[in-house]
Amino acid sequence: RSTIGVLALQGAFEEHCNILKSISNYNIIQVRSIEELRSCCGLIIPGGESTTMSLVASRSGLLGALREFCSNPNTAVWGTCAGMILLAKEASQTKKGGQELFGGMDMIVNRNQYGCQLESFQEDIPFNCINGGPVNGIFIRAPILHSYSDNKNIIELASLPSNPVDHSVAPQGHVVALRQANKMCTTFHPELTRDYRLHVYFVEEIVNKI
Ligand code: GLN
Repeated sequence: RSTIGVLALQGAFEEHCNILKSISNYNIIQVRSIEELRSCCGLIIPGGESTTMSLVASRSGLLGALREFCSNPNTAVWGTCAGMILLAKEASQTKKGGQELFGGMDMIVNRNQYGCQLESFQEDIPFNCINGGPVNGIFIRAPILHSYSDNKNIIELASLPSNPVDHSVAPQGHVVALRQANKMCTTFHPELTRDYRLHVYFVEEIVNKI
């Protein structure tokens, strides 16, 4: 299977599709059905509104297949912002919003923890796994990674160089990119910049190797 999908229920899926098309030879598709999902070896879950994406996934009967896909060790998945929330095993505010998660990464996230839209920010993020200097991170009502399990498969890819606000809710530091085997997540939106290095990383270091 040489297809990478972008979950296209809501949010910034067009941007991810365009970038993937420009940097890879994979067949890139928008995923809205179980058949489309099953044709993929990799999937990006975009940023947007996780409650909405979750609701649409439930109503369209896609939730079970997404859970299966995200917990399958032989698929590559990258969740950005809301997509990261959906990849978590637990997220704050899920009960209130009745939000179902997809799971796949052994982590707990807090939604909207930096505050409202006015507290959205940009920051240069140093990545050890990416050459050529820091990546500009756009954080839009971003989640904070609360914690992740003590699992040898999990590696921190990047953290905020400084804490932008006083938040005691991130006991393991402000990790903004995490990888667990073939799954990765970022709390920010790389698809909203012209810097495609994280997309290249996802394709070359994860999708190509599964
Ligand atoms: N605040 C959104 C949520 O909780 C995520 C925002 C985003 O993806 N930029 O789903």
